[in-house]
Amino acid sequence: MSEKRHITLIPGDGIGPEVTAAACAIVEAAGVAVQWDVQPAGLAAQQASGQALGPAVFDSIGRTGLALKGPTGTPFGTPYRIEVGPHAMNPVAQPRVYPSVAIALRKEFDLFMNLRPVRSFPSVPSRYQDVDLLIFRENSEDLYLGRERMIDTDTAEAVKVITRGATERAARYACDLMTKLGRRKLAIAHKSNVLKLTDGLFLRSAQAIAAQYPQLEVRDRVIDALCMELVLAPERYDGLLLANLYGDIVSDLCAGLVGGLGLAPGANIGERCAIFEAVHGTAPDIAGRDIANPTAMILSAVMLLRHVGELDAAQRIEAALTTVLARRDRLTPDLGGSGGTRAMAAAIIEAL
Ligand code: ATP
Repeated sequence: MSEKRHITLIPGDGIGPEVTAAACAIVEAAGVAVQWDVQPAGLAAQQASGQALGPAVFDSIGRTGLALKGPTGTPFGTPYRIEVGPHAMNPVAQPRVYPSVAIALRKEFDLFMNLRPVRSFPSVPSRYQDVDLLIFRENSEDLYLGRERMIDTDTAEAVKVITRGATERAARYACDLMTKLGRRKLAIAHKSNVLKLTDGLFLRSAQAIAAQYPQLEVRDRVIDALCMELVLAPERYDGLLLANLYGDIVSDLCAGLVGGLGLAPGANIGERCAIFEAVHGTAPDIAGRDIANPTAMILSAVMLLRHVGELDAAQRIEAALTTVLARRDRLTPDLGGSGGTRAMAAAIIEAL
């Protein structure tokens, strides 16, 4: 019997436990032998143990190198800081502070690339039929460093950090993957007409790397114009390279082009570890009601399987999902159905 693959599982908050349970059951039904190392993190973990992100999570991901992660909540409006102390991956470091669990994990494991594919499903109703985008979001800096402060009671500021090194690393990853996948057109998004230093550096650094890939057709787009063009004619775009905040916003926009957040998966990639999580958040408005669409999390698991070379299982899960989406009888309400998360997962398992 083949050895079980060890994967860290973070169920997370809100709809996280429901959609990760669906994804795990489907991975197992596809015949992949997995030992899930379940690690609570997020608001529920904080309520249960006092720690939103404890050292056990780092130990686990450090060991497995792989995680499937549900969304973790960040309260709106209230000051919220995640403090990370020494852990197995970084035993001597001083405590570090982050604005969210997701950002803490991305930074601590140096997950420099957030890869978010967005593709039309022929059977999912949407205004567009031919969307096939690959979003490359720089994942380590920009406004996500959380360096904010009050200047006085009526004035707040946030620091936007762009470095040549992080931008080049993201751009190289994007160009390499585009080349490997035979994709040709890469658009670099920016607002360098206003943010001349930060976005200017992002644009120049990315262009310098892209120039080393003559097979790619590279152009730059101002972020606001890009958003308009994506809504007008998304089929004109292929790969998009963006800094962290623009990447986050454009990911949601692009998910909307193909039918909503329930359909958009993602991967956070580093040299030694990778964490797979959907684009959507905790969706508190539908949490605990068995109506969340599990597709984004299932497709995140498919990305994980491809990442570790389980190509056959990945392909079969995708095919089963496509069958269920096309049959339309057991879909969640966001897809126009009247089914639930569990019923949809069961239908995919049957189709497998
Ligand atoms: P967070 O603060 O965790 O980001 P949010 O509610 O602000 O949560 P999302 O969780 O991304 O942001 O949800 C935005 C909207 O999309 C909500 O109305 C939510 O119900 C819907 N949504 C998100 N994910 C799904 C899903 N998997 N299935 C169905 N609807 C979803």
